Parts: sequence; structure tokens; C-alpha cells
Amino acid sequence: MVATAKVAGTGFQTIPEHAVQFFETDAFLVDRVSAFIGVGLRAGDACIVFATQPHREGFERRLVADGLDIAAAIAQGQYVSCDAVATLPRFMVDGLPETVKFAEVVGDVIARAAQGERRVRIFGELVALLWAEGKQAAAVRLEELWNALAQTYSFSLFCAYPMHGFDGEMYEAQFAEICQQHSHVMPDESYLALSSSQEQLRTIALLQQRANSLEAEIAKRQELERRKDEFISMASHELKTPVTALKGFTQLLLHRFKSRSDEEPIRFLTRMDAQINRLSKLIGEMLDISKMQNGQLEYHMEPFDLAALAEEIVGNVQETTPTHRLLLEPAASVWVSGDRDRIEQVLINLLTNAIKYSPNADIVNVRLTTTEANALLSVQDAGIGIAEAYQEKIFEQFYQVNEPAEKTYPGLGIGLHIASQIIKRHHGQLWVQSQKGEGATFSFYLPLLQNEN
Ligand code: ADP
Repeated sequence: MVATAKVAGTGFQTIPEHAVQFFETDAFLVDRVSAFIGVGLRAGDACIVFATQPHREGFERRLVADGLDIAAAIAQGQYVSCDAVATLPRFMVDGLPETVKFAEVVGDVIARAAQGERRVRIFGELVALLWAEGKQAAAVRLEELWNALAQTYSFSLFCAYPMHGFDGEMYEAQFAEICQQHSHVMPDESYLALSSSQEQLRTIALLQQRANSLEAEIAKRQELERRKDEFISMASHELKTPVTALKGFTQLLLHRFKSRSDEEPIRFLTRMDAQINRLSKLIGEMLDISKMQNGQLEYHMEPFDLAALAEEIVGNVQETTPTHRLLLEPAASVWVSGDRDRIEQVLINLLTNAIKYSPNADIVNVRLTTTEANALLSVQDAGIGIAEAYQEKIFEQFYQVNEPAEKTYPGLGIGLHIASQIIKRHHGQLWVQSQKGEGATFSFYLPLLQNEN
């Protein structure tokens, strides 16, 4: 193989061993790949493309527009265009590219194209497809396999990744790894558009400055975030003590006035008690969220009957709800393993949400069923519903649906996040089915006791 030292801005007259091109737009990718292939075809090289259907069509259109007879090149086996989506599964095993299968599938294409002592140029976006599917380890492994294949066959390989696939601090190490796997790295079009080396140096200096200030800014914000979390944790602890005392005294007074059958103070104290309960719930949620952030939320796992728990909680919530009827379909015992108090918290959250977000309805249905492996509990209301666009977001921290009609409902937007984390911790899943204006059904499953590992 012939390696070249000067690749950035190259017209591909010389052949890089294993180059990677980062890109922002498809138009730029088509430009670059067509140049790489075009130079090869004119020099009599064999050119192989492993790309998506739209990209393959784009390359061919461009090559034809550049005056190349692609039909003839295909007929002579000089231009081989393979569908990347169809090729990948031919050598993937358990989510990773398999060495022998890869060498067979790709090696066979190379061997056939190389007939007649042709040099071989390959453009491949198999790696980029894996990356886009979130299979980062598989993409890096595939780059290694390409490098290994170069020990057997002689070819020059051109890879390309969309730059936006690396947005986010978490990709820093993997980005470095991908660059490491290539003999030549070409930045995206914004850099290649710079014509003089002076301009390129100036841009690198500016980028370095920007990277430094972003790093400093991230560190500053992380520190502020830490202090804010600490504050929430402290504030909720501090609020808990007086509220607990208020709750105790209210209960005491209620008890006294009830024994005297004094109606007016009983009415006021009952309202006070309900408001204190609301306050306790909010403080509890704040405490839980900070414990979760610090990994300090403790779980006490034990076997319990989910059917009995559902019956108990539906009964309790019904007592505090004059507006709605909670209908629980009777179910036989359903044994699961988990933290009973935490699952109780999830159920209360789903029930109170169902009531809160269905002000014009009066029925909430609760169903507990089982499948072979799981217990499935659902809470269905006939309320305002949730548009599809929000159905994933509502499980995120501090997220509340941001529509004018929703602003009137009180809450912190953390109940569902806590609930979904609790269910996840029990190896289950919590989800919603809904349409705006058509009510919502929140369901979760938990593994049945005998299926727990
Ligand atoms: P909040 O304390 O604000 O209710 P949650 O985390 O419990 O916080 O819920 C997040 C958001 O999901 C709510 O602000 C609301 O917009 C939406 N939501 C939750 N449950 C329902 C429901 N049963 N019907 C319609 N919207 C709901």
C-alpha cells in the first residue's frame, strides 16, 4: 500500500492507507467520496463502496455527471457498489462483528475486484452505521478488523462519520479511539474549506481556545450543580422537621375536636391536614431525588403480594378522594420481590396523578394481571391525556408538560422520574399509553418471584 503524508484538502491522487473523513452534510460526503472513487476509476483501480442506498445513488449520479461510464465500470467489475445495511448482518454476531465472517464477506468482494492486479480503493460506512445505532464498541471493533484485513489484502480504505454523532463529552474517549484506528484523519468541511495553512493554524488556535473555555465552563457548572444538589438535600431535610411537628399537632387537635363534635374547627383542621400531607409529599420527593442523585436511596428487598398491596393502597387513596371512584379488579395473590414501601410510593404516585389530571372524570381503573414471567399493573384514567411528543419526556427529572392548560396543576415534575427509577431498580419498566384529551394508562411490570435471578 502507498501511504501519503498530505491528505487534508487532498484531491486523492495519492492513496491513504486508512483514512477517516468527518462531515457535516451529505452533500460534502458525496463530493469527497466521488472524488476518491473518480480518481481511482480513471487510474484503472478497482473501487468498492459499502454505503447506504441514498449515498450509493448520490455517488453514482455525481460520477456520471463527472463523465465516468459507471455502467461499464460495473459490468467490468471495476466498480462494486454494496448496500451497507444489507451487508452488516452478514458478519454481525451477538451485536459485534465476527472476525472470520467479516474476512469472508468483505475479503471475497475485495479478491474479486482485485483481479487483474488492480489496486483497490474502498469507501465504507459500515462503521458509521454501527455508530449511529449506538453500537460504539462494535464500530471500534470493526475498524480493528479492517486494519487486520489489510494484512491479507492490499487496499486503501476511506471511512466517513457524521460529526454530529460525536456531540457530547461522553464520546471524547471513543472519538480518540476512532481517530487512533486511522492512518489519516480529515476534519469536517468547515476545516477543509480553509485554503491556506496560515488560515488553518489560526483556526486550530481558535478551536483550542474554545475547547479550553468550554472545559473551564463545564467545571464551573458542575461545581454549581453539586452545590445546588447539596442545597436541595439540606433544604428538604430542614423542611421535614417542622412539617412533621405541624402534622403531629394538627392530628392531636383534630382528635380533641372530634371528641367534642365541634364541627367548624374539625373542617378547618381537616383542610390543614390535607395541605400538610401535600407539603410532606413534595418534601419527600425532593429528598428522594437528591438521594437518588447520590446513589443513597436504599431498597429493602423482600417477597410481598402485589395484589394485597394494590388493594390496600387503592383503599387508602380512595379514602382521601371524594371526587373519583377507584375501581380495582379483584386479583389472586401475585408474589414479587421488592421494596414494598417503594412500590407503594409508585402506586400512590400513579393514582394521585390519575386523579389530579382527570378533573372532569370520576373513574380510575386499576388492573393487575400476570404473564408467564411478570406482574403487570396499570392505572387508567379518563383525563386530559398526554400528547405523544411528551410521553418519553415526562419520565425525565423536573419535566412537566409545558402547555397553557397544564400550568394550573401543582407539582414538581419529579414523581414519575422517581417512580420509573424505582421500577427500573426492580428490573421492571414503567410506561404510558395515551392520546391528548383521551385519558392515560400508566403501566409497569415487575418480574414474578419465581423468575427473579
Ligand atoms: P407532577 O408532580 O408535575 O405531576 P410527575 O413527574 O408526576 O410530576 O408527572 C410529570 C408530568 O406528566 C406532569 O407534569 C403531567 O404533565 C404529566 N402527567 C403525569 N401523569 C399524568 C396523567 N395521568 N395524565 C396526564 N398527564 C400526566
